Amino acid sequence: MGYPKLVIVGGGFGGLNLIKSLKKAKFDILLIDKTNHHLFQPLLYEVATAAISPGEIAVPLREIVRTNQHVTVIMGEVAHVDKNLKQLTLGNGDKISYDFLVLAVGSRHSYFGNDQWEEFAPGLKTINDAINIREKILVSFEKAERMDSPQEAAKYLNFVIIGGGPTGVEMAGAIAEIAHRALFKNFRRIKPEKTKIYLLEAFDRILPPYPEKLSRRAQIDLEELGVTVVTGKKVVDVTSEGVYVEGGFYPSKNVIWAAGNQASPLLKTLNVPLDRAGRVIVEKDLTIPGHPEIFVIGDAASFIDDKGKPLPGIAPTAIQMGKYVGKVLKKGNQPPFHYFDKGYMATIGKLRAVAVVGKLQMSGFFAWAAWCFIHILYLIGFRNRFAVLTEWFYCLLTGERGVRVIYHSIDKELPKKE
Ligand SMILES: Cc1cc2nc3c(=O)[nH]c(=O)nc-3n(C[C@H](O)[C@H](O)[C@H](O)COP(=O)(O)OP(=O)(O)OC[C@H]3O[C@@H](n4cnc5c(N)ncnc54)[C@H](O)[C@@H]3O)c2cc1C
Repeated sequence: MGYPKLVIVGGGFGGLNLIKSLKKAKFDILLIDKTNHHLFQPLLYEVATAAISPGEIAVPLREIVRTNQHVTVIMGEVAHVDKNLKQLTLGNGDKISYDFLVLAVGSRHSYFGNDQWEEFAPGLKTINDAINIREKILVSFEKAERMDSPQEAAKYLNFVIIGGGPTGVEMAGAIAEIAHRALFKNFRRIKPEKTKIYLLEAFDRILPPYPEKLSRRAQIDLEELGVTVVTGKKVVDVTSEGVYVEGGFYPSKNVIWAAGNQASPLLKTLNVPLDRAGRVIVEKDLTIPGHPEIFVIGDAASFIDDKGKPLPGIAPTAIQMGKYVGKVLKKGNQPPFHYFDKGYMATIGKLRAVAVVGKLQMSGFFAWAAWCFIHILYLIGFRNRFAVLTEWFYCLLTGERGVRVIYHSIDKELPKKE
């Protein structure tokens, strides 16, 4: 008889850490992912703002598990789970059975029921999203350069980022740096340094989960970089012309969505209780009710901690959950999952960040150095670490953003001059 068949759906932080913790365990492991790579999402905004190349944060899953003979990888999208038959259905109808199943399928951005906004305000979650946003940003400067009317040009030079969480803060800081440092010498008619960048947050301060002092610090740092931070205003509509908030309008052809998360629709097929974000409300051992053979981890799981709060959807949560499930599968019953809070951080342009590590609150250069160290440490592969470090160093010294290829032609998108 062979080993039990463990199917893991999703090769993100959760899925890969589970595989790592099962290195010598007796399982036949099948990893299914709809992409062929593991994506280091915390650096996606750097791809979106032309600082690093996509390949530096996306590593082929086959390469990562190459030396583990018990792991097979297939590329495919799981569309349905049948708990009773212990069977998955892929997008093309193929069936795959399992003895144990771990769903580590992550999340997508949510438009809170306004999916029509996505066309005008793309979110940042996949490599494609990052490349599209990069293209949108670079193309905007090119279009503005061709406009005779300063009012028309201004629409392309106004950037609106919706959502003042870490992703929004990081995007706003990076766009400010592109406009004010990287591109300003490259254009003749427009002045990219006149670019207006708005960061909109519905809550009364940016970085809501952070201590107030750090939220204030982040806002001051962003304002010094030339970002206008608007708090306490809810977005009511997004169109091709810009963003409407309660009592105001921001004209812009460049809107980026960095607010809200929604779990994968696959989770609905489990027919178990989900939270408001569509995440599975898991048991204390990360299984689903009545099915000790099915685990849900990472961004897909809603786990209520000892203080009655759901755990944050960040990489350390997914990593620790992956390792915990590895222990349960190897050793059987374990004490309930316990999350160890290592802290959180967000960078604001170059050389500045805010960070909470245990009781320590940091900002400025030391927080930024800690941010760089942690991100390089968790990036997979020596080549990528080396490449990202080199790009950062180069960018720091010269202010240049090296990855500025535009893939499509813009003529059809521009009105003909009368
Ligand atoms: C822009 C951005 C910045 C972030 N910055 C930080 C940060 O600075 N620090 C931090 O700690 N966290 C950060 N996060 C959050 C962090 O990346 C996530 O919490 C983490 O990736 C969750 O890991 P996961 O394994 O649950 O899911 P993911 O890493 O999202 O992996 C899910 C995998 O499942 C696959 N998948 C999904 N659905 C299916 C399906 N139906 N069939 C097959 N495969 C499927 C996907 O292709 C993907 O590979 C950031 C996230 C984003 C988007």
